[in-house]
Amino acid sequence: MAFLDKINDFAKTATEKTNNVIESTKLSAKVDSEQRSLNSIIQKIGEYYVAKIDAGETLDEEVMAMYEGVVSSRNNIAAMRAEIEALKGPKAEATASGAKFCPYCGKELDVSAKFCLNCGKQQP
Ligand SMILES: [Zn+2]
Repeated sequence: MAFLDKINDFAKTATEKTNNVIESTKLSAKVDSEQRSLNSIIQKIGEYYVAKIDAGETLDEEVMAMYEGVVSSRNNIAAMRAEIEALKGPKAEATASGAKFCPYCGKELDVSAKFCLNCGKQQP
């Protein structure tokens, strides 16, 4: 009988362990979800104060120092976007396949087209 008791105990312990793993996995997922909510709230608070500074308000020194990072990042993004546009080149330029695109509406046209078949504008 003692042997069967041991087996029962073992099975019970194994079940408890499995349940604990399931429970802790569920809780971890809830923690992650709550953490995302928290991050989102903190981000909104940040955006709220950035908008105030954008509108000309001066906040305390520490915030103003952090705001310099915002300005610097915005400038970097603007510079990189301009670089991307420059890399794309003028839209009306003929492509390798011999097609060109109307700079007014974007319609693909024959390289020799003088006018756009879609919007009617004269082509450069
Ligand atoms: Zn067009």
